[in-house]
Amino acid sequence: LPLVIVRGAQAGPKVVIAAAQHGDEGYAVLGALRLIEQTDVNQLRGDLWILPCLNVDGYISGQRNSPFDQQDMNRVHPGSETGNLTQQIAAVLHRFILPGSDLLIDLHGGSPDVGDIAFGRYADAPGKASLELLADSLPLTFLLDPSAASAPGMWSTATPTISVPHLSIEAGSALNTAAENAEEWVSIVHTALRVLNMLPGEVQRRHLPVVTTSSHPASSGGAFVSFVRLGERVSQGQSLGQIQNLLGEVVQSIHSKAAGTVAVLRTGVRVHPGQSLVTVATEV
Ligand SMILES: [Zn+2]
Repeated sequence: LPLVIVRGAQAGPKVVIAAAQHGDEGYAVLGALRLIEQTDVNQLRGDLWILPCLNVDGYISGQRNSPFDQQDMNRVHPGSETGNLTQQIAAVLHRFILPGSDLLIDLHGGSPDVGDIAFGRYADAPGKASLELLADSLPLTFLLDPSAASAPGMWSTATPTISVPHLSIEAGSALNTAAENAEEWVSIVHTALRVLNMLPGEVQRRHLPVVTTSSHPASSGGAFVSFVRLGERVSQGQSLGQIQNLLGEVVQSIHSKAAGTVAVLRTGVRVHPGQSLVTVATEV
């Protein structure tokens, strides 16, 4: 498990920054590597524990889940030391990496196949200050409603049990270069570190919109084409795209379940049943 500790010149908080629970989300890997290079230890107060790639085998094989056990790492937390490989990695994080941390920043999102406009979600931990102000100060488009239900086994459900607040960020798309996406990651994380007074510089609160999301998964495999762009406003019922089989027949037409903004969009063509096509964010 690759881990780089960036130790600031002054003592201070410990922040864990982890990318690629989902092995296909490569822009976050590059963002974490840039963060190691671009964080000035002479300016830094505290320690960054940077894990650029949690799912190395998924990264090598270019897939979201582990190729060994087919597990989605973000559904197995806090893991098990006697479980499958993905559960064991989660258990190592929970037992050895996270304890004593003041914040976990969990990087998700963009790949050449699926793009995101930048958004975040936070989960507070007992005995620690709320992340509301920090999250609302980041260069993002919106925040997910923190009171919305989480799926069992998501990291955000496990870290508060050991008093570690959790912030997940989705960002990056094939509409920008990989280097531009990595720069966006560095900007988001460095802003969070300024709010924590771990790096110098003033940060203004943004008052980001709070949203819930509607996902539109593929019911068939085939070739996906979208009719909308990332960040586009859509109305309820609007046609978002379609899947054709390899004879050109339309096997699924996707219509928006809600009015809102296209927050996540499949930018690749090949699609398998169950994969997410378009996610629409609606202000609450
Ligand atoms: Zn992810």
